[in-house]
Amino acid sequence: MIRLPLLSTVIKNLFKKPATNPFPKTEPVPVPENFRGKIVYNVDKCVGCRMCVTVCPAGVFVYLPEIRKVALWTGRCVFCKQCVDVCPTNALQMSDEFLLASYDKYDSKFIYVTPEEAEEIKKKQEELKKAKAQAKAKKDQ
Ligand code: SF4
Ligand code: SF4
Repeated sequence: MIRLPLLSTVIKNLFKKPATNPFPKTEPVPVPENFRGKIVYNVDKCVGCRMCVTVCPAGVFVYLPEIRKVALWTGRCVFCKQCVDVCPTNALQMSDEFLLASYDKYDSKFIYVTPEEAEEIKKKQEELKKAKAQAKAKKDQ
């Protein structure tokens, strides 16, 4: 005698709704709290301590000594969150962004602080330094 133990289950399931999410026709499945998505870097909060450079296992960070900030290429990120945990000023956060496919590995969405941006930051820092020195000189007069 042929035994078909799954037959009744298969027949029952034929009449149920599919249990799939037909993305992109629908919204993706919502991410949980504390989801590790794309890194977000707030350059203004960064104090250039280099802790993130030390802990990152994937070499995402490059220290920029002239401006005491870091540049990031998140295309290498493995979403381990170690940089976020170690950053003393909360300059790094993990977002809930996960739809990161791109044709270009150097897409601007993967890069924080381009050489042009670094140059602008340098100029601003120099202007601020000058203004501070002038204010101090005025005070000392
Ligand atoms: S999450 Fe991990 S791999 Fe990604 S930048 Fe931070 S330390 Fe590097
Ligand atoms: S750990 Fe934070 S403050 Fe330190 S260099 Fe990295 S981003 Fe900047």
